[in-house]
Amino acid sequence: MVMMLLALFMCQWGGVYAQNTWDVTSIEDVEYVKLSDVWRFYRFTPKKGRPGCVSYGSGKHVVSLKPEKQDFYVNNYRYVLSHPVRKVGSDLMISSVDMRKLVDPVLRPRYSPDRKLRTVVIDPGHGGHDAGAVSSIAKEKDLNLAVARKLRKLLQRQGYRVVMTRDGDYFLTLQQRVDIANRIPDSIFVSIHHNAGRSAASGIETFTLAPQGTTSPFARSRRFDELAGNNQDSENIALATAVHSRAIRSSGAIDRGIQRARFSVLCTIRRPAILFEGGFVSNPAECSRMATSSYQNLLADSICKGIMAYNNTVCRPAQNVASTTPRPGRVRTSISGSSISNYAKRER
Ligand SMILES: [Zn+2]
Repeated sequence: MVMMLLALFMCQWGGVYAQNTWDVTSIEDVEYVKLSDVWRFYRFTPKKGRPGCVSYGSGKHVVSLKPEKQDFYVNNYRYVLSHPVRKVGSDLMISSVDMRKLVDPVLRPRYSPDRKLRTVVIDPGHGGHDAGAVSSIAKEKDLNLAVARKLRKLLQRQGYRVVMTRDGDYFLTLQQRVDIANRIPDSIFVSIHHNAGRSAASGIETFTLAPQGTTSPFARSRRFDELAGNNQDSENIALATAVHSRAIRSSGAIDRGIQRARFSVLCTIRRPAILFEGGFVSNPAECSRMATSSYQNLLADSICKGIMAYNNTVCRPAQNVASTTPRPGRVRTSISGSSISNYAKRER
């Protein structure tokens, strides 16, 4: 029986240290913190948010969630948590890994002094004998390349250098795609795909690498080793947020969320990386729209604007939020022995 304490040290603006100590409860081997502590930390108060959800926020952000669910909304954009929100007595709790790897980097995206963005590596998924998702209307490999080429043009116009992992209908292995980005310093990796599923399935989703020690529908097993891509966890989620929110806003497509996965391009990459799924080839109505040049332009434009917003926040100190809000904190855990929550046992 152990009760753990998570000591969260906040390095405040001006170099003054304020310390908050949060109780950590272990539920089925996952560390959780109380959402009441989280709301207090961000100075959030109850808000009117999504129907049926618990919603808190400040002037800039409204966060909505539900007990026992992995859905998490920030300003109405959907994220999928690595672990469900739990209810212990009257307390709602969120896993500390979601707190560190999702909630905090999304609410307070940080300037990374060692992160510069000069080159965008665009990876149009599939190619050659690998068509990806196929319908009578379009092949995924062609849609991916069409959006990628439009995105290249827009980014070049903004002064970015662009490298395409493929610029034609040929096959590349996943590792070859990653190797291209890993050879280019100061780059990010944006993999463009389109989806397949049940014919009714539709909408846009964006994937980032699952954090160390987590599982999710797309990350499958819980994995405790740190992957190369995990070195960029904060940048990954910041990039996903910037791109995904703009794509949802401008397309009006169903928001399938920012989700976690361990797709091989995300695992071994040493640059900030996302995998963007622009809609369902298997949905006739959506696919007909995706096959039009105007919809491809719209997707390319929102990805481009997302990349620019990411660059302004993460790579440019002068315009960073850190100048107006407290500086990024460091999270340290200290574990001390005491008594445990029997919640997991009571649940069964
Ligand atoms: Zn694909």
